[in-house]
Amino acid sequence: MSNELDPLSLAIRLRAPQTLQKEHSTPLYLTSSFTFDDAEMMRAAFADENDENIYSRFSNPNVDEFIAKMCMLEGAEDGFATSTGMAAVFGSFMALLKQGDHMICCSSVFGSTFTTVTKFLPRYGITCTLVAANDKEAWEAAVQPNTKMVYLETPTNPQLEIIDLEWAGQFTKKHKLILNVDNCFATPLLQRPVDFGADLVIHSATKWIDGQGRVLGGVIVGRADLIKEIYLFCRNTGPAMSPFNAWVLSKSLETLDVRMQRHCENALQVAKALQQNESVSWVKYPFLEGHPQYDIALKQMKAGGGVLCFEVKGGVEAGRKFLNALNMLSVTANLGDSRSIASHPASTTHSKLTEKERLAVGITPGLIRISTGLEKVTDIIADIEQALAAAAV
Ligand SMILES: *Cc1c(COP(=O)(O)O)cnc(C)c1O
Repeated sequence: MSNELDPLSLAIRLRAPQTLQKEHSTPLYLTSSFTFDDAEMMRAAFADENDENIYSRFSNPNVDEFIAKMCMLEGAEDGFATSTGMAAVFGSFMALLKQGDHMICCSSVFGSTFTTVTKFLPRYGITCTLVAANDKEAWEAAVQPNTKMVYLETPTNPQLEIIDLEWAGQFTKKHKLILNVDNCFATPLLQRPVDFGADLVIHSATKWIDGQGRVLGGVIVGRADLIKEIYLFCRNTGPAMSPFNAWVLSKSLETLDVRMQRHCENALQVAKALQQNESVSWVKYPFLEGHPQYDIALKQMKAGGGVLCFEVKGGVEAGRKFLNALNMLSVTANLGDSRSIASHPASTTHSKLTEKERLAVGITPGLIRISTGLEKVTDIIADIEQALAAAAV
């Protein structure tokens, strides 16, 4: 495929080599292993002297197609795809860190990532300092002689804080640290961390990349030397992406650009409507004026993304009433679906924490997170407004 095409066109046209059937859409390669013409060819494959597929835990045409598209969209040299986003997060840590190493992590990261760095990595002698997203002095103060990696998400979940990627790139370069960015909320369409100096970029492909709430998947792209280590770790320990999921996700990338445009337009309109609503004390969306890091969001993102959050007046009880009163929006834990989703962290995902612990991670009592879908925005706004009216009674 000509590299003169725009990356957005390549994300649509790039494909695994056509077979003798001349099929237009890439076939599904549901095979555990691949055959060899002779012993010499098999020997050479195992000696890494050729690019032949050996076994689908290592590589597979559907998975390779998905990785190639992701590398192109993110501007990255190489990549590896995993069964879930968390397998990508964990694989990037375990492949590159060892006993005695230290990492710095943004405190408002995805819940399972938080558990991994605070509960599991310390068992293997890998320590982690958590720092608030925008406390630059704390990031500086956290650097130790054994620090190897900086891990962050932007926008963060669910508070949608924005971390300045240009600053993060300079910070990690100065201290010679690996910059590992979870780009799930922005997608490569809205923000490319590699352009700001990120060494690795991680996605939960389960979210906006699939975009229809069907399959789980993850991917790590970035510097070829680091991906080589991650590949060796993952090919041996087994978090491979299934060919079926890769096929679904690769197809999804063909529509990511148009989907994200609509998701972002809808989210901005919902955020603006909520600003006018008397039952709401505040609304947060990266491209809404008044967001604390509005200028940084404009600098590094093409649009604000599909997620917004707001505080319903009346605390936990009002939050519960709001969820119960919704007619169209789904009440579910996922995000990044064509169908709009509402969640109330204080009574669900974060209900086991104390109020004080919740506030420390930015979960206020009436916080509602909306993942804006692709429905007509008038229907999304109408459902949210009638549920707010019901919650206010
Ligand atoms: C969902 C999510 C993950 C984990 O991905 P899974 O595919 O569910 O394993 C990691 N980071 C962020 C920001 C997420 O939203």
